[in-house]
Amino acid sequence: MFVVELTFECFDNTTISAVDRAVNGLMDALRYNGQVLGREFPMVMGDGLFQVRAVCPEQDSLNPVHHSGQVMGAMKKLSEACLLSPKVRVLGRDLNSEASADNSERSWQVLYTTYVHTCSPLRCGDSLLPIPLYHLPATFNGDHKAVVRWQTEWQACDEIQMAGAFKAEHAALAEITEIDSLLSIKGWDIRGRIEYLTGIPTYYYLYRVGGKDRDSEESRCCPKCGSEWRLPQSLHDIFDFKCDRCRIVSNLSWDFQ
Ligand SMILES: [Zn+2]
Repeated sequence: MFVVELTFECFDNTTISAVDRAVNGLMDALRYNGQVLGREFPMVMGDGLFQVRAVCPEQDSLNPVHHSGQVMGAMKKLSEACLLSPKVRVLGRDLNSEASADNSERSWQVLYTTYVHTCSPLRCGDSLLPIPLYHLPATFNGDHKAVVRWQTEWQACDEIQMAGAFKAEHAALAEITEIDSLLSIKGWDIRGRIEYLTGIPTYYYLYRVGGKDRDSEESRCCPKCGSEWRLPQSLHDIFDFKCDRCRIVSNLSWDFQ
């Protein structure tokens, strides 16, 4: 992934609050289209200009060809705050983050995230590299906001259950481990939408922890259809179970690895 700097120049007198609103509106629209990652965008003020730093999946993520209708709308609103469209400069590769999947053919995809990953939650099943969301047709209502919001919610639950020791731990864990939780239902529907739009088999990752013992965990069945779904070999050291009918993958309980 790449660190970029967006420079917004003022063409007339303006106020900080107007600039703040317009720039944050644009950054939100870019985030909901997968063109920038993460939620924090530091902004500094210079002489008649404002600079914002962000992380993008690819060098050309901010190329207008990738813009959603929402991003174009937010660009137009910049002029209300007396700002010109931003100049974009790529500062370099982010050494702390993963590369993105190239746009070549893949045999399957998976909706998979953890609380430490800021990259796209859609991954290439063959390489496990993240697929920038703006390469897909808009998933819902013109961009990928529903996908990004699902990811944020999943990560929040993951962080609570990893921290442990709270009363909320049980509820958070249920959301990411149970196939009929609200979060799983939402995520499974999103993967269905992506599969429909891309024509590529797309799976939902169901987190698994706990269980009675290793034997019963190794022989557990698909939670949706009850079929055997154990893989002969682990995929990417994460997925030990895969149901092709239900489009779900899962891991061998983290307690017995
Ligand atoms: Zn199944």
